[in-house]
Amino acid sequence: MLETLTVQTTRRAELIDITDRIAAVIRGSDITSGIAVCYVPHTTAGLTIQENADPDVTADILYKLDALVPRDDPRFRHAEGNSDAHIKASLIGSSVTLVVRASALVLGTWQAIYFCEFDGPRSRHVHVKLLRG
Ligand code: ZN
Repeated sequence: MLETLTVQTTRRAELIDITDRIAAVIRGSDITSGIAVCYVPHTTAGLTIQENADPDVTADILYKLDALVPRDDPRFRHAEGNSDAHIKASLIGSSVTLVVRASALVLGTWQAIYFCEFDGPRSRHVHVKLLRG
């Protein structure tokens, strides 16, 4: 089965914890054991797994990505003006693969799944494909 979630972002760049929404997709399916592939069909957004205990971690990630890839780099050629967002999305990656056991995600204590917006605010999608196994 393939489920598609909509994520409404509210800032140009932000990380949004979507762990509970992915877990709800799994609970709503008949797959109790297997793999969940989560994928964003966007070129200026991504997915990552990171710490959910201290919000400073996601703030630091956004800070450092901005420092590494400044939006106003005068050597960028892409006419849309969002080259930094494309590069950040490539650095983060567009999918995560998760293990499902007993109808639940197998994650570490401090791990959460984050939707990473780099060119918002926008309405975005996350595809969730569940594979039995
Ligand atoms: Zn672009």
